[in-house]
Amino acid sequence: PDALHRLTPVILSGFCVPLRRSCDMANSSNRLEGKVAIITGGASGIGEASVRLFVDNGARVIIADVQVEKGTSLASELGKHVAIFKHCDVTLETDVEALVAFAIEQWGKLDIMFNNAGILGKTVVEDVQGLNMQDLRRVLEVNVHGMALGMKYASRAMVDKGTKGVILCTASVASVLGGLAPIPYTVSKHAILGLVRAASSDLGKHGIRVNCISPSGVVTPLLMDYFHDGFGDPNYTPKQAQNFVDTHANLTGHSLSPMDIARAALYLASEDGAFVSGLNLIIDGGFSASNHSLNS
Ligand code: NAD
Repeated sequence: PDALHRLTPVILSGFCVPLRRSCDMANSSNRLEGKVAIITGGASGIGEASVRLFVDNGARVIIADVQVEKGTSLASELGKHVAIFKHCDVTLETDVEALVAFAIEQWGKLDIMFNNAGILGKTVVEDVQGLNMQDLRRVLEVNVHGMALGMKYASRAMVDKGTKGVILCTASVASVLGGLAPIPYTVSKHAILGLVRAASSDLGKHGIRVNCISPSGVVTPLLMDYFHDGFGDPNYTPKQAQNFVDTHANLTGHSLSPMDIARAALYLASEDGAFVSGLNLIIDGGFSASNHSLNS
């Protein structure tokens, strides 16, 4: 015991140095220094917050979206040395292939592919008997095919260049629960989880990590569409929407924001998540882990 006692400071000092270093890294604002990222759906909502946070952390980001005005104005606000807008419809294979080629052409590599673009589809919650097959096809095309294409071309570029990259997808709490969203959306988000697990399993041998992030309701234009069309109330305000989301949350005292989701993406994209792959990181304040239906 005496010898152990004498050794304790040595053991502790050996332990504290890496611990201190990793704490410094966690507080650093340069957690993506030197990294090149693509963020699809980067012109709005969760994508926009992620573009800002990634740039703040030293990354250079390609903002890929179909919204030209919003995307170019965000890029010019941040500066072309760190952010460039590229028009890309994620449902088109040629667009996604060109997007990844553009990142390589501009900045020589691709470290992070954040497949985030998504749509809700028809906001009227229908029953299975009345399922609109055209809507189902469209939602799957954007939310699943779009993300699969992002994975395909990003992983090719990463493997070609020997980049130990990161692929992220935005799924949803609707990836693990039915009844929260229109049926096509729920189907698509469950499929993203399958895509992420399959790709994580396949790409691990190349040192590429693949994860998804699953938020509950975040007030963005996508969610506002749900309130405007689905609730049939065109005058519903973002403040009312936030109040609705907060009232239905499990965790009180914090309003979920796009930046909360961006922070989760930063964790997964950075060295902080160095051994995390195949994960569905659910950001819902414990909503999907709880069931209050037996409470009065
Ligand atoms: P948003 O509408 O603010 O952003 C979505 C972006 O995707 C838009 O800029 C849109 O132009 C872009 N986009 C749509 N179709 C595209 C296409 N074919 N090609 C390229 N870009 C396209 O909504 P958001 O809430 O920030 O959504 C981002 C992601 O988060 C989506 O995948 C969504 O399903 C997911 N999500 C959102 C919530 C929420 O409550 N807001 C919850 C869970 C998951």
